[in-house]
Amino acid sequence: MVYFNPETETMPRDALDTLIDERIRYTIQYAVDNSPFYRKWFRNNQIDSKSIREHEDLLELPVINGATIRENQPPATTDFCFKSAPWDDIYTVHETSGTSGTPKAFFLMWDDWQRYAEKYARAFVSQGFGPGDRVAVCASYGMNVGANTMTLAAHKIGFTVIPEGKCTFPVRVIQSYHPTAIIGSVFKLLRLAHRMEAEGMDPKDSGIQKLIVGGESFAEGSRNYLEEVWGIPAYNTYGSTEGTMCGECLIRNGLHVPEDLVHMDLYDPNLSSFVPDGQSGRIVLTTLLPEGARSGNLLINYDTEDVTEVITRDPCPCGRTHMRVKNPIREAETVQIKDVPVNRVDIEEGVFQRENMEYLSGEYEVFVYSDEDSGTVAMRVSLECHDPDTCDKNEVEENFLSALFRQKPSLSHIYSDGTLEILFNYPPNGGLELYRLKGRPKRLIDRR
Ligand SMILES: [Zn+2]
Repeated sequence: MVYFNPETETMPRDALDTLIDERIRYTIQYAVDNSPFYRKWFRNNQIDSKSIREHEDLLELPVINGATIRENQPPATTDFCFKSAPWDDIYTVHETSGTSGTPKAFFLMWDDWQRYAEKYARAFVSQGFGPGDRVAVCASYGMNVGANTMTLAAHKIGFTVIPEGKCTFPVRVIQSYHPTAIIGSVFKLLRLAHRMEAEGMDPKDSGIQKLIVGGESFAEGSRNYLEEVWGIPAYNTYGSTEGTMCGECLIRNGLHVPEDLVHMDLYDPNLSSFVPDGQSGRIVLTTLLPEGARSGNLLINYDTEDVTEVITRDPCPCGRTHMRVKNPIREAETVQIKDVPVNRVDIEEGVFQRENMEYLSGEYEVFVYSDEDSGTVAMRVSLECHDPDTCDKNEVEENFLSALFRQKPSLSHIYSDGTLEILFNYPPNGGLELYRLKGRPKRLIDRR
């Protein structure tokens, strides 16, 4: 299998753009007819829904975000205003773990599941999956759609799923079922490899042929290290309950966006205009429904609060014509250090410098403090260390700083003039604060 949906995935750019515009018109009409929120939204904003003819017209519409969803569902309102189909047609209900307050509710029809699964199926086929593969899924099943969507995609392609849900499964699973691939996050897959080594199994001899990473953004350095430890390639995916599911193909130069099913615009930080290709911008997405399709939950101009960059809309060497974007990063994981935006991934690139990995596990956390009196900012970098006594700290720090300053040259100026202080700390294995907290680890914490 080369393509999951050859006609759509290799559609020439002109035809693809025409299809997108048709689907935008249909989706807008569906929203007006079926979504209480969007019916009111067009009326209140005095926008004639018929005036939205093509994707550029979406710029005329306001951008909404997670707060908009929360303000339009109980307890704020009596009904779920984003639900766009009757209860009898809703197959499953989902909640996304909100950073604050009530989780956002999503309502999926079976049709929505089919489209979600098709997006993952396309990505998996583009990564070389096919019948005969056995895949351990370490993403969590439950209110998140990711793991279930992948499992449904496996059925479409015809491979076997081992639905572990977590990456903490016993090494016996690998010996018993001989998975050919594992889906998980970079850090979980690293920990699994270390656990296998501790039990006498070299990850390189495990029979696993590839890793699929997703769930959070990562530095190229951490991917490289993961690939080295496992001795196999790791492919990136990006997905969310809102319906973006993008994946790297075998070429590994960006993630293909399934443009016929989700429209992705990239906006400037003020959310007032599109940014040109090659510049980084906020991902604002719009669900695209095929003519005649239905949906339990659709979004128009939804700010994901993630940031990426369009690499190209030209055809990929793999034959797919759908655009490719860089690995998205979360805006929520960016801190401002004297007007310089620094993302967790910038820090991670500093940690995962190859020479550092002789001493470090890769686990890290960073706290940012400020000294109001002197006007300085301090960054305390904690790097988990196999053996703090033998660690070449000078080398680690030099590698870390040069990689960080390569990513963020303006940081080096405020570092050399003393406005930014960077302090290093080398806890032994298990010594990071993040191990004592529940949930997704926060690695870059602003304590100002
Ligand atoms: Zn490709």
